[in-house]
Order: sequence, then C-alpha cells, then structure tokens
Amino acid sequence: MAEFDLIARIRSCAGSDRRDVVLGIGDDAAVLSVEPGMQLVACVDTLNAGVHFPVDTQPDALGWKALAVNLSDLAAMGAQPCWALLSLSLPSAETPSVDELILGLTHLARLHGMALVGGDTTRGPLSLTVTALGQVPAGTALVRSGARVGDAIVVTGTLGDAAAGLMLAMGQVAAPSRAAGEMLRKRLDYPTPRIAAGTAMRGIASACIDVSDGLLADLGHVCAASGVGVQIDIEAVPLSAEILSVLPRGVAQRLALSGGDDYELCVAVPRDHLETALAALRGVGCAPHIVGRVTAEPGVQVLDAAGMDVTPRQRGYEHFS
Ligand code: ADP
Ligand code: MG
Repeated sequence: MAEFDLIARIRSCAGSDRRDVVLGIGDDAAVLSVEPGMQLVACVDTLNAGVHFPVDTQPDALGWKALAVNLSDLAAMGAQPCWALLSLSLPSAETPSVDELILGLTHLARLHGMALVGGDTTRGPLSLTVTALGQVPAGTALVRSGARVGDAIVVTGTLGDAAAGLMLAMGQVAAPSRAAGEMLRKRLDYPTPRIAAGTAMRGIASACIDVSDGLLADLGHVCAASGVGVQIDIEAVPLSAEILSVLPRGVAQRLALSGGDDYELCVAVPRDHLETALAALRGVGCAPHIVGRVTAEPGVQVLDAAGMDVTPRQRGYEHFS
C-alpha cells in the first residue's frame, strides 16, 4: 500500500458524522468548530515499539491504546473528547498489520463519538503519536492543583492489573486460569479511559489525575501542584480477584501502588461532596473506593491497617524478577 492509499484507507475508517468537523482528512489541516462557551482541551502522547508495549502486542491493541492513553488524559481534565490526529511512523507502507492498527484506534474513537481529523504518515520505526482534542464548559476543567487538606482521595477502580498483565506478558508469572490471564492482559492492552467519570467529577472533585505511572507517583504530582500531602491506606486500595489469583497479596499491593498503565482516575473530593461523588461514579459504571485523605504534611505516605508507615522506597514501576 502506498502512502496515499494508506491515508485513503485511514480516511475511510475515520468517518464520523460530527457536524463540528468543517474539514477533516484531505486538506492541509483540519477545520473544527468550537462551541461558544466551551474551552478546547488538548493533549498528545506517543507509543514507541519496544519501549511502551511488549513486542507480541496485537496491532489493534496498539491503535486502541495509543488513543486510550490520550483519552485518559482528557478524562482527567473532565473533558469530553471530540477530535484526534494520528502521527504514524511505519517501517513500510506495506506493514501488514497497519489495517488492524487503524481499526483498533477508530473502534475506540467511535465508542466516544470522536472524529479522526488528520495526521501524518512517515517511514521509520513503528511509533504512534496521537493528539486528542476535547472540550469543557469554560472554567470547569479538573486540575491537579485544587486538592485541599481534609479532602478524600478516591480511585475509580482496581489498580495493579495492567502491571500484573505485563508480568504475565513477560512470562514472570503464570495465571492459574485462562480467564484471569485474559482479564489482566486486557487491562494492559485495551485500557478503558474513564471519560464519563471525568465529566461527572466536574464541579465536584477538587483535583484529578489519571493513574498512568502508578498511584504514588501520580499522587505525588497532585501533592506538588496543590501544596499538600496524601495518606493512603494500603488495605483500602482496591485489588481485583484476578490479580490476587496470580500474585501474593503483598506483591499485588506493591503493583497497585507503583505499577503503571491502569488509567483509572484518582480524584480529591471535599468531604461535603463525597457522597455525591461516589454516587456519580457508581452511576457511570465505576466501582469507586476511598483510598486515603489529603494532609498538610507534604509527600505521599502509605499506612497499614495499624496506622504504621509502610511507604515503599521505590515509587515507580519495578519488576519482581
Ligand atoms: P501534507 O503534506 O499537506 O501535510 P499529507 O499528505 O501529509 O499532507 O496528508 C494529507 C491529508 O491526510 C491531511 O489532511 C492529513 O491530515 C491526513 N493524514 C495524513 N496521515 C494521516 C494519518 N496517519 N492519520 C490521519 N490522517 C492523516
Ligand atoms: Mg500540506
């Protein structure tokens, strides 16, 4: 397939009936209408072969995940996704899997009513860069800097699953059942961006971030931006039945604190909004858990059931080989 055939193919998959796309793929740039009273929210993220995904990752998972990680950033801002651009670097235009890759990306785009409105196609090592554009009512974007002492810390779902999926992919552990292995691998390869949770938290949460680098590392960003600290109760951090079927509880807890790629949201919520927040998150199909609280003492601290400090020294993802 030549470059222009490829772009034509992408264009045929990218179809959307959004009326705010004045000009999509095919001109020098896209022309998009932003509604009055709305603000544009923009982000970009790259997935590189050999760095960001195991080599045996399915091509459609690459396309899905390249968009999903960006949608997760929009979700963390409380934004509604609208449009995406795809910069694609391919070893050759004949890369057989490129079709599946495009289908994976456009499948997720369609689920969120987004249009793929442009991009760039070049020859080089396999790499996908997606730019995602969303909108929020002016002044309502969720930010990292609003957490206040006394707020509750809430996560939208189980943590550590994607890191466990990576351990499975690398053959470091074995799943006792096929269903558990598939669930964990799916959490790694086809993450679910929490868009509805993000928009539901507008006007309720005081701060928000998506858990992409690990709960402790990402909460560290919230603490730095807000000038506060956080205490996490390790026993309150939600773990899936699947991760507990694959790993001892202590290891699963470490992955939940420090493993990346889960793409759940982590929000700070003022106490008087807490019931509203939990009900709203349940209302959009999440299983929210209160995992801790915002404190005046800077830094992220982890407490066990007895209130003892069990903060791990290593915050980012580490392998347990
Ligand atoms: P130019 O040379 O003017 O940048 P291109 O030939 O690169 O134009 O692109 C032609 C059209 O195809 C543009 O509208 C561009 O946005 C779109 N396009 C190119 N590559 C991609 C891609 N990977 N995904 C989506 N749209 C693409
Ligand atoms: Mg041009």
